[in-house]
Amino acid sequence: MSIRVVFLGTSGSVPTLKRSLPCVVVQSSSDQWMFDCGENVQHQMMATKVSFHHKMKIFISHLHGDHVLGLPGLLQTMALMDRKESLQIYGPKGLKNYLVSTKKTLNFGLTYPVEINEILSEGLICNQKEYQISAIKSNHSVEGYCFAFTENPRPGKFYPDKALALGIAEGELWSKLQNGQKIITPNNITAKPSDVMGPLRRGRKIIYTGDTKPFAAFVEFAEGADLIIHDCTFDDALKEKADTDGHSTPSQAASQAKAAQAKCLVLSHISARYPDADLLLGQAKKVFPNTILAEDYMTLELPLSEELL
Ligand SMILES: [Zn+2]
Ligand SMILES: [Zn+2]
Repeated sequence: MSIRVVFLGTSGSVPTLKRSLPCVVVQSSSDQWMFDCGENVQHQMMATKVSFHHKMKIFISHLHGDHVLGLPGLLQTMALMDRKESLQIYGPKGLKNYLVSTKKTLNFGLTYPVEINEILSEGLICNQKEYQISAIKSNHSVEGYCFAFTENPRPGKFYPDKALALGIAEGELWSKLQNGQKIITPNNITAKPSDVMGPLRRGRKIIYTGDTKPFAAFVEFAEGADLIIHDCTFDDALKEKADTDGHSTPSQAASQAKAAQAKCLVLSHISARYPDADLLLGQAKKVFPNTILAEDYMTLELPLSEELL
C-alpha cells in the first residue's frame, strides 16, 4: 500500500497568498485521514484531487479558528455533492458543541452520517485492522493533541521453498499461512506462519503535532517516525514569543525530531511574517538535516518499509 501525504494548508493563524490554513491529508489506496481543517479546504482538496466521497476520518488538534473553521464548509460541500460514506471526526472537548451549534444556526442538512468523537484522554483513539491512531496532549495555549498514525506491522516475506519442503503445495494453505493462521499439512504435521515466513515488517509512522511548544513526552510518542509534521511558527530569534504563544521554532522542532530518531521532519504552520521561509529551513537543518519546509500542494510519498521487527 502506498501512502501519500498531501499538504493542503501550511500557514499559521492567518492565510497568505501562498499558504492556506492548516490541513494535511494522509491517503492510502482506500482511505483518507485529514489532520486539521482550515478555511478554504474545499478549494485545496480540488487542487490536489483529494476526494470528497472517499472513506475519511478527520482529526482536529485543537479548537483554534485556523484549525477548525474549514469544517462547517467542508461538511456542507460534501452534502451538496451527495456524499453517502460516513465521516468520523475526532477532536478535543467542545468539538461536538461547535459543530452541532453551527449546523443548527446555518440550518444545513447532511446526506451522510457524521460521528463526532471527543478525545477525553491520551492514548489510542482509533484502532483499525491496518493502522492505529493515538493522541498525546500538546503543549499549547488551549487543550490540544498531537496525533500519531501508525500502520500495523506487515507480515514477513513468504518463502515458497520452505512451504514446499514441508509438503504444502501452492493453494489455500499458503494463503492461510500468509494470513497468520496455523495449518495441518497433508503429511499431518502442524505448520505455523513463522515456519515459512520471515519476521514481521515495520509499519509506517506519521506524526502531526498541531500547535505546540516542545515537550518531553513527545520524544517517546514520535520515536522512530518516518515523518514528523511539526509546528514551526516563528524563527529562532523569536523563541520567547514562541514560548509565550505555545509554538515552536525551527531549532526546537528539529531537536524534537532528532531526539525521536525520526527519518524526516516537515516544518509547517508558518507565520505570515515569513513570505520566504528559507530562514526557518536553514535554522532547522543545522540540527536535523533531513528537514523539508512545507508548501501548499506539496505531496510526499512514503514507500513501504522493509525494516524487520
Ligand atoms: Zn494555529
Ligand atoms: Zn493554536
